[in-house]
Amino acid sequence: MIFKKEHELVRQLAREFAEKEIKPTAEEVDETSEFPMEIYKKMADAGFLGIKIPQEYGGSGGDHVSYAIVMEELSKASGVSTIWISSPNSLQSTPILRDGTEEQKEKYLRPMVTGEKLFCFGLTEPGAGSDAASILTTAVKDGDDYIINGRKTFITGAPVSDYIIVFAKTSDEGAKGISTFVVDSKAEGVSFGKAEHKMGMIGCPTSDVVLENVRVPASDMLGKEGKGFINAMKTLSVGRLGIACQALGLAQGAMDEAVKYAKARHQFGKPLSKFQNTQFVLAEMETKLNAMRHLVYDAAFKMDQGLPADKEASMAKLFATEEAKWIIDRALQIHGGYGYIREYPVERMYRDIRVTSLYEGTSEVQKMVIASSVLK
Ligand SMILES: Cc1cc2nc3c(=O)[nH]c(=O)nc-3n(C[C@H](O)[C@H](O)[C@H](O)COP(=O)(O)OP(=O)(O)OC[C@H]3O[C@@H](n4cnc5c(N)ncnc54)[C@H](O)[C@@H]3O)c2cc1C
Repeated sequence: MIFKKEHELVRQLAREFAEKEIKPTAEEVDETSEFPMEIYKKMADAGFLGIKIPQEYGGSGGDHVSYAIVMEELSKASGVSTIWISSPNSLQSTPILRDGTEEQKEKYLRPMVTGEKLFCFGLTEPGAGSDAASILTTAVKDGDDYIINGRKTFITGAPVSDYIIVFAKTSDEGAKGISTFVVDSKAEGVSFGKAEHKMGMIGCPTSDVVLENVRVPASDMLGKEGKGFINAMKTLSVGRLGIACQALGLAQGAMDEAVKYAKARHQFGKPLSKFQNTQFVLAEMETKLNAMRHLVYDAAFKMDQGLPADKEASMAKLFATEEAKWIIDRALQIHGGYGYIREYPVERMYRDIRVTSLYEGTSEVQKMVIASSVLK
């Protein structure tokens, strides 16, 4: 693919950052579950937390292509590092940018971009995953406040967040009765479940959020009553691009490791790379990678041109996350038994990739989005 010069510069910056700051700590983060906050601060200083956030709110004011490039480059080194970047750039800032007042944008976006305040996005509930409109959390009006009760589950970054974007029912009209609130995590009645023991993407805690009679001022509602479901769906349709980039980066990272290993490892008197089977597998991996990259950047280019891109983002996520699983599995196979051992990055990549076809809409949900666009 041919990129503009400014995008090539973004890639160079991101690649250098990934090599210098992310790669050396990736294994330790996976072992300890602790993502170093000094690296998070460096990401903020590099402008990565607000790539797409307008400059008037402290962001870098970049485009979706730049965002995709940074996500791809960092994901090659560590999948979880890109959760820390995609979260402020999409799930956490989009609901505020879409529906927030000027005052709310000023209040929340600036500290989000500097990394001073951490946010999380609370939509999923124990009984409402793919069917997000069936949430049970309620927000009942009480004078100038709302009283929120409910439980959110699998919330990325919840235990370390300062603010929670909560989707709650303000009436019983299904999807039309859902509203969005920004809840201070220190408010009385807010608590977090234990951090989940995840298979991969270790280094960003995921937990339940429990809301028990939490009093939230009406001024902390984002947008109008009943507009929360549209806000959540529109946020996710942009967010999906980020997950596709995560998958692309992880798959490219595994490809790079497989090529290196195939050249270095000798069996039967020659490097693995001399066996036609290895060459053919690498050729298939490269072809799939290229197809993934085209879908990812096609969606990003369309978003930058203001064209409809919901279908494109879903196709990119569906294809990239499903094919990346295959690519990383093949990369592990090329490593033989060593690929199963923790010292080799492909083992971590094999675990990290699994969630990408689950969160921000499963592959089946992406198929629903694509099919409804095809059949409309
Ligand atoms: C690590 C992690 C982090 C997450 N972070 C967040 C977060 O920050 N915020 C947040 O709100 N949520 C988050 N989630 C939740 C995530 O978005 C949901 O797990 C996801 O939407 C699927 O919901 P579910 O797990 O309840 O599965 P279900 O909806 O119960 O689905 C189970 C299976 O059935 C399939 N299925 C469901 N309905 C249909 C249908 N109509 N047709 C065909 N197949 C169907 C699904 O595709 C899936 O394969 C996270 C999840 C994980 C694992």
